[in-house]
Amino acid sequence: MSRGYGSGYDAGYGGGYGAPMMGYGGYPSYGNPYGGGYGAPGGYGASRGGRDGGPGVKFKNDTMGSKLRPVDPRKFQMKLAVKLTYHEHAAVTRRDQAEVDLWIAENNVTLDGQGIPRPVFEFNEASFAEPIENLLYAHYQRPTVIQSISWPVAMSGRDLIGIAQTGSGKTLGFILPGITHVKNQPPRTAGDGPIVLVVLPTRELAQQVEEVAKDYCKAMGLSLTCLFGGASKGPQLQDLRRGVDVVVATPGRLMDFLEENVTNLFRCSYLVLDEADRMLDMGFEPQIRKIVGQIRPDRQTLMFSATWPKEVRTLASDFLSDPVFLNVGSLDLAANHNIEQQVEVMDEYAKHPRLFQLLDQFMKQSQCKTLIFCETKRKADDLTRMMRQDGWPALCIHGDKQQTERDWVLSEFREGKTPILLATDVAARGLGQT
Ligand code: AMP
Repeated sequence: MSRGYGSGYDAGYGGGYGAPMMGYGGYPSYGNPYGGGYGAPGGYGASRGGRDGGPGVKFKNDTMGSKLRPVDPRKFQMKLAVKLTYHEHAAVTRRDQAEVDLWIAENNVTLDGQGIPRPVFEFNEASFAEPIENLLYAHYQRPTVIQSISWPVAMSGRDLIGIAQTGSGKTLGFILPGITHVKNQPPRTAGDGPIVLVVLPTRELAQQVEEVAKDYCKAMGLSLTCLFGGASKGPQLQDLRRGVDVVVATPGRLMDFLEENVTNLFRCSYLVLDEADRMLDMGFEPQIRKIVGQIRPDRQTLMFSATWPKEVRTLASDFLSDPVFLNVGSLDLAANHNIEQQVEVMDEYAKHPRLFQLLDQFMKQSQCKTLIFCETKRKADDLTRMMRQDGWPALCIHGDKQQTERDWVLSEFREGKTPILLATDVAARGLGQT
């Protein structure tokens, strides 16, 4: 489980982190809180030959004459106390490491890479600026597993591969170090593009990231904009012309703006590829390669994916350098481990009666929402029509629907006004707080 972690712990934790890119310095270093030289066996032992001596140590009598000097009991106690403190600290360090290992094992974390910094277990250990810390404490209690590891890794300037699901807290996992990164760069000047770029597959996901990130950007005085297709270019264009620090974008719309020279990626030094597997599934690889090709090679890159197939591994090896690899849960499963799954295999003719039987049960529970996935757009449309005729409060989204209709349907579902949503895999991920 913790392969590569034990050795990385000491090296990374005590060393403080240099940043791998030009103009990138300024991160608070993760110094060893126990102080330098702590744990060196010479520390305590060296004083044993001193004049006051310690338990069981005989005084030399060369300068003291033949009589042994009596031991001052207070000094003797002090020495004992020092010794105890030393051992208590040593025990704490060992326990910390053991606890970290246990935590990693308990949370089913796979962590790989050299010099991995110690996870953070409280918000105030992450070295974020005060406004960020305050917002975190106002909303949540503790970092999620992904955040515990991704924050110190990303804050150290390292590249990161995170195999993580939507809902794991990964958005704050990558955006808060990104915001900190911007604050450590020289300010943008006229004509400069964004410093942080988050590329992700769908408009829904882009808006969700914007929603999570906006308060933190605002608190730190940073501008943020969201670029996606299916909406008018005007407002997005205006934001880009004004200049923005953080851009969250789908690949197609970003490429449009880059080709039209509305913005550029010369200043971008923190890149996040979110839901990388989904972007590849949707055929965005050529655009992603073009976009990344325009970003300086000494950038910091974080890549998140729900699954870890060969295509994603290839992308990672092309775009990331010496990354820390982080996975929570099994690499063979794409499903969220917090969701109980019950699979029923049945004949085609039995599907609809069973569906309505289940819906009857669900609708009796207050505030219960149901998401029904259909394989094809046609099937989704047909089933929705049939259900509505039968009086079910159901709506449908898929790729052929207008963006405005998709937005409206999603908000109806989010707010619980229409508690049944039928969808093709356009909604497979990233509906967020529905
Ligand atoms: P994700 O899509 O993985 O970024 O997950 C986002 C959801 O997790 C949002 O609803 C956040 O408000 C929530 N979240 C993020 N960080 C935490 C945390 N440390 N504790 C509890 N919930 C969190």
